[in-house]
Amino acid sequence: MTQHRQLMNYIGGQWIHSRATEYLPVRNPATDEVLAHVPFSLASEVDTAVQAAQAAFDGWRRTPPTERIQYLFKLKQLLEAHSEEIAYLTTQECGKTLAEAQGELLRGIENVEVATGIPSLMMGYNLEDIASGIDEHMFRQPVGVVAAITPFNFPGMIPLWFLPYAIACGNCFILKPSEKVPLTMARVFELIDQLGLPMGVVSLVNGGKETVDALLDHSLVRAISFVGSSPVAKYVYSRAAVNGKRAQCQGGAKNTVIVLPDADMEMTTRIVADSSFGCAGQRCLATSVAITVGEARTEFRERLTDAAVQRKVGSGLDSEVEMGPVITPESKQRIESLIAKGAGEGAELLVDGRNTQVKGYERGYFVRPTLLDNLAPQSELVRTEIFGPVLSLIHVQDIDAAIELINASPFGNMACLFTSSGAAARKFRYEARVGNIGINVGVAAPMAFFPFTGWKDSFFGDMHAQGRDAIEFYTEKKVVVERWPREWSRKF
Ligand code: NAD
Repeated sequence: MTQHRQLMNYIGGQWIHSRATEYLPVRNPATDEVLAHVPFSLASEVDTAVQAAQAAFDGWRRTPPTERIQYLFKLKQLLEAHSEEIAYLTTQECGKTLAEAQGELLRGIENVEVATGIPSLMMGYNLEDIASGIDEHMFRQPVGVVAAITPFNFPGMIPLWFLPYAIACGNCFILKPSEKVPLTMARVFELIDQLGLPMGVVSLVNGGKETVDALLDHSLVRAISFVGSSPVAKYVYSRAAVNGKRAQCQGGAKNTVIVLPDADMEMTTRIVADSSFGCAGQRCLATSVAITVGEARTEFRERLTDAAVQRKVGSGLDSEVEMGPVITPESKQRIESLIAKGAGEGAELLVDGRNTQVKGYERGYFVRPTLLDNLAPQSELVRTEIFGPVLSLIHVQDIDAAIELINASPFGNMACLFTSSGAAARKFRYEARVGNIGINVGVAAPMAFFPFTGWKDSFFGDMHAQGRDAIEFYTEKKVVVERWPREWSRKF
């Protein structure tokens, strides 16, 4: 193990070796090569990070917002200057293509940009003369020490859904990245170290469940942001709530597109193929069910079959490649067994991506794009989040039946409609019970100035990530009623 880099934690402005006894190898999913070892940090190390954050809090919250955001302008410049190197690390540890890795970092940087607007965004409001000589004001104040726990599929972007807003609002922030992909944030925190932030304002603690539990149970941690699978999201939400913390927990998904016969079929199939197979289907906004209505069926099925067969699969570092591997051998095995289950439940396997071998990358965890037709709406494949490049096709006779299927799902992250009818589009966006809607868009990812609004089992909490919701989440409101009359009017 010692020939590989042991990752460190960044606590109180210092890089510190963990005292963990357990380390996990971080592997390149295209090659199975070990890239580094990540510690499962101990509860005592979480405590050190929290104490450093708490010690920094008073000074940081008193730093004017106009000064706080100067660090973010610098962070944006550093991230942009090092974007190729960061994207390379993301591709190495996560498997996605370099273009996808660069794209996700850009979406992360957009959050840094939005958070630089904090002096305006964080303003409260007030009203003079709520009674004679009495004024009322609402101020926003930072919450204190806050933490985020993030998943493997967007190592560069998702931590940036939280960090910029948290610190711009005057909080001190601790990140626990996914133990499967810790290298991207290790590098980003090296850049953060160059910002000259006061010690303890941001910390990075690597680890797994024990590390997360220590954050959830620490009395000084006031707010928890989580992104990951629904069962863990629900667990984190419950445990944070029991401990009196504010929590926003984004969970898993099962996203559906509806294709109407009046859709532009060439555009639709290109977009749906990208949505289903981009990032090897490991996106919480990936399309995994397509419902064709009426005559849309035949052409959509044929075009999608071609798109699935033609997609070039391999190492994300190869510029020709359109789709990389999935994250672990266990994930590959799980996806392949779900495909087998779908076929066993009577679906027609149009394109079978199992047992994929990529020349030169024989040890990689590859699953080729897979397409199944004629799935029963109640089948496991349609109900379960697969998190791989697998698209299931269902056919119905009208848009009402399609919307009903979407609304029956326990998840509510995203749904999209492809059509040229404004009336159908309006009906869909009005009736579909999901938080993110796409109309002729395959991955309806909200820009940084809008909230990322999952519903149902895709989100537990009240205030979402990004945009104005982030400011709500990272501040507490304080209302002040003041009496300064010209003449004292109060009679006792
Ligand atoms: P995961 O739930 O396995 O892990 C997420 C984080 O939780 C990691 O940091 C991990 O260390 C920690 N964790 C895992 N098990 C835990 C436990 N029992 N107790 C405490 N902490 C635990 O998720 P993943 O596999 O890394 O990511 C994929 C999932 O994330 C998918 O379900 C995907 O849909 C979801 N996701 C959702 C969104 C969204 O915005 N809704 C975005 C990206 C990913």
